[in-house]
Amino acid sequence: MKSAAEVVIIGGGVVGLSIAYHLAERGVTDIVVLEKEDMVGTGSTGRCAGGFRHQFSTEVNIRLSLLSVSKLERFPEELEQPIDFHQDGYLFLLQRPDEVESFRQNVQLQQRLGVPVELVKPEEVERVLPNTELALDDVLAATYCAKDGVSDPAGVTEGYRRSALRLGAAIATSQEVTGIQVEGGRVVGVQTRTDRISTSTVVNAAGPHARVVGKMAGIDVPVVPLRRFIWTTKPFPKAPGRWTLVVDFSTGFYFHRESGGVLFGMGNKEEAPTFDLSVDWEFFDRVMEVAIHRFPPIADAAIKNAWAGSYETSPDAHPILGRVPGIQGFVLANGFSGHGFQHAPAVGQLIAEEIIDGRAHTLDISALSIQRFAGGVTEVEINVV
Ligand SMILES: Cc1cc2nc3c(=O)[nH]c(=O)nc-3n(C[C@H](O)[C@H](O)[C@H](O)COP(=O)(O)OP(=O)(O)OC[C@H]3O[C@@H](n4cnc5c(N)ncnc54)[C@H](O)[C@@H]3O)c2cc1C
Repeated sequence: MKSAAEVVIIGGGVVGLSIAYHLAERGVTDIVVLEKEDMVGTGSTGRCAGGFRHQFSTEVNIRLSLLSVSKLERFPEELEQPIDFHQDGYLFLLQRPDEVESFRQNVQLQQRLGVPVELVKPEEVERVLPNTELALDDVLAATYCAKDGVSDPAGVTEGYRRSALRLGAAIATSQEVTGIQVEGGRVVGVQTRTDRISTSTVVNAAGPHARVVGKMAGIDVPVVPLRRFIWTTKPFPKAPGRWTLVVDFSTGFYFHRESGGVLFGMGNKEEAPTFDLSVDWEFFDRVMEVAIHRFPPIADAAIKNAWAGSYETSPDAHPILGRVPGIQGFVLANGFSGHGFQHAPAVGQLIAEEIIDGRAHTLDISALSIQRFAGGVTEVEINVV
């Protein structure tokens, strides 16, 4: 274990490891990633559905996706790591007139930013998603973007882990950070259960635990953990052939192909913040009702696996990124609100720029600073699944 490092990253999920890789790639290799579990990638990252999409409602989220997806497209070659990358699109199904109207505006914004997305009539769904027996009687319209898709979170995490190590970064597991030392308004060190590391730069990449880690430096990072569930099925006769991620927007039910069956989940709007990760089987009955209504062939599928994970949710469903005014050397990469897997490639690059160059310049992330909450929440991302 190092006793000093130029940068200490707290959290070995996809975000922390992407930041470690991008720093090391730029030549900052005196880095240590501290992970409290005995393996990296077992937090939200290891529980995620692997989706990536450009279909967001705000410009900054769409721009984060444009940067991230271009990096995911090059990932297998650049990082020599397969990531099971399927660009088969996201299909949003819209039931209510107000949803259609807000998605129409989102599509215009996405198209203006160069995203190949289209508004689709129910009778055209078969064209973008053939051979999938969706029930569309109550669907008014849909949106589809062929550049969206799904990929493998474990592969992406492993690519960043291996490449960061190869470039000289250190990763220490079973090292829970218990304190951050701040003296005279600047970070000077990090305390784990067993060690102390001197440093002038600390990155909070603690996922759902961002608020706990923020408190160690004396600031309130407004991130709450919201429990989300995923179920997977065994193969069944009418499982979709393509990997398109289908979202039933008004209920939040979604599914995509997985190992000859499907992976599916649904947000529970009544869920209170919790670190509890047990599966709620009463809620499962509600999910199945929606699932069978929208995709009847799922009724024939046997459940293979189930798990829960945390959405690390911010008040406006946007990430909280960058330096913290008043605490020199404390950097945040938090609050991804269920989109952290897909935005991790962009965020790694941008946080590396913030640390090395003084500010992120590939994309302006000043609107994502924690300072934005001082004036109350303004622009909210509405396209949260
Ligand atoms: C069910 C589900 C489905 C999802 N689907 C998608 C999806 O389709 N697409 C998408 O983009 N995103 C999805 N997400 C969200 C995505 O998983 C997260 O946004 C992303 O993984 C966040 O990565 P992270 O590295 O910030 O957090 P984590 O992966 O949680 O990593 C944080 C790490 O910090 C460690 N840590 C915490 N406190 C300390 C401490 N004190 N000391 C040391 N280590 C500490 C934790 O052990 C953990 O390993 C989903 C999430 C869930 C739960």
